[in-house]
Amino acid sequence: MLVIVLWIVAMVAGLTWKRWVATVLGLAAGGLWLLSPTGGYHPRVSPAPLVGWLHLTAFALAPWWMTRLRAHLDKRLKRLLHAEAMKLGQLKGHQQHLQVSHTANQQLESQIARITDLYHVTKQAANAVHVDELFQRSLEVIPRLLTVRGLRLIDTESAPEHPLVLRAKGNRERLVMDAPGPVVPFERTLLNEVRRHGQAGSASRSALAEGEEWPEGTSSIAWAPLWSEQRCLGVLIAEDLPDDQTKTLSIVANQLALQLSRVHFYQAVESMAVTDTLTGLFVRRYFAELSTEELQRSRRHGLSCACVLVDLDEFKQKNDTYGHLSGDVVLREVAQLMRRHLREVDLIARFGGEEFILLLIETGAAQAMAVAERLRQLVEVHSIRAYDEVLQQTVSMGIAIFPDDGMELQPLIDRADAALYAAKHAGRNRVVRSTSP
Ligand code: GH3
Ligand code: MG
Ligand code: MG
Repeated sequence: MLVIVLWIVAMVAGLTWKRWVATVLGLAAGGLWLLSPTGGYHPRVSPAPLVGWLHLTAFALAPWWMTRLRAHLDKRLKRLLHAEAMKLGQLKGHQQHLQVSHTANQQLESQIARITDLYHVTKQAANAVHVDELFQRSLEVIPRLLTVRGLRLIDTESAPEHPLVLRAKGNRERLVMDAPGPVVPFERTLLNEVRRHGQAGSASRSALAEGEEWPEGTSSIAWAPLWSEQRCLGVLIAEDLPDDQTKTLSIVANQLALQLSRVHFYQAVESMAVTDTLTGLFVRRYFAELSTEELQRSRRHGLSCACVLVDLDEFKQKNDTYGHLSGDVVLREVAQLMRRHLREVDLIARFGGEEFILLLIETGAAQAMAVAERLRQLVEVHSIRAYDEVLQQTVSMGIAIFPDDGMELQPLIDRADAALYAAKHAGRNRVVRSTSP
């Protein structure tokens, strides 16, 4: 009875030590019963006590077996939990990895966007052949990279003593170019700073000393030098640039520096060119070189020369009526017409927008007037096909004679210009000879 009670207690309480006690007591009771004279082994053993004994043993062993079973199940459960924990750990690892990849992906995407924008800065500016054009084109892209209220580009390469300053103003989304002007004291200070240290930097208005120069309406400025091939070409100044964009400013400055050096190179090449691309005539600089030599030769040999300035009449109106492209055609045609009707030895060049200059070699005043008049008439009657239009053009001319009107090229040009002015004043489409002073 005691064993049964203990057994039930052990089972209900689920306490391992009670089960052990119930097992031991059960076995002891079974042993006692087996050895007792009524229930024990007898030579004439009846099956009933044996079955009872077996029942009792099974009954006694049940708690022990259940304990074992529970321990076994606990162990399995622990193993399963452990495996699950491991899997969870792995999953967490994967999740972290995914998050890192996602962040890296986002960074990469923003980097690609930046690189694309930078590429556009370069692409946009790549066709520019003048500094202001380069700046203007860059302004179309820079607001995508830098949120600034103003931008200044100082180019010291074109003229070191008189740096070219290009300025743009606007809001943080759009920048509009201001009229260029001379360098102001604050810009000069900054330029000297960059020349001395060659580094990017920033300053806030509050850090300035009393009375020091500062761009109007700006609370801070940042700047980056324009370095190209170990030469500082100038500086890029940004007004009210956010702190986290200083690196981008330097990158933009590097791109601009690259383009700026290309523009300078282009200008240098252009200045070396001897012919004008639109008309095919000599450029003014080359004409001056050749004319100076011709004048020296004429002086040596006591010969005359004629300097003729030619200006297209009412040409602006032609541009306004038929467009600039048609105007270009007219300009080219008139230039080529005159070139064809001059001698090989005579010099002709594009002097300015719609002006030409001629040096008629070994030519006196009367002869020069005749040649000029012939050219004037030729132009007057010449029909010019410009796209869908057939246009007419007239020219006015002013003549100065070497040595009568001047011994050097510049005085001759001045006298011819005065004569041209007189021709315009007299009603255009005519030739006027300089009157001696
Ligand atoms: P005027 O008879 O007094 O000389 O009058 P104009 O209209 O010819 O003179 P003005 O100086 O007022 O205008 C010159 C025009 O020439 C203005 C400018 O746009 C034009 N021009 C200058 N260079 C070029 C060029 O390369 N191509 C074209 N299409 N036009 C040009
Ligand atoms: Mg003119
Ligand atoms: Mg003109």
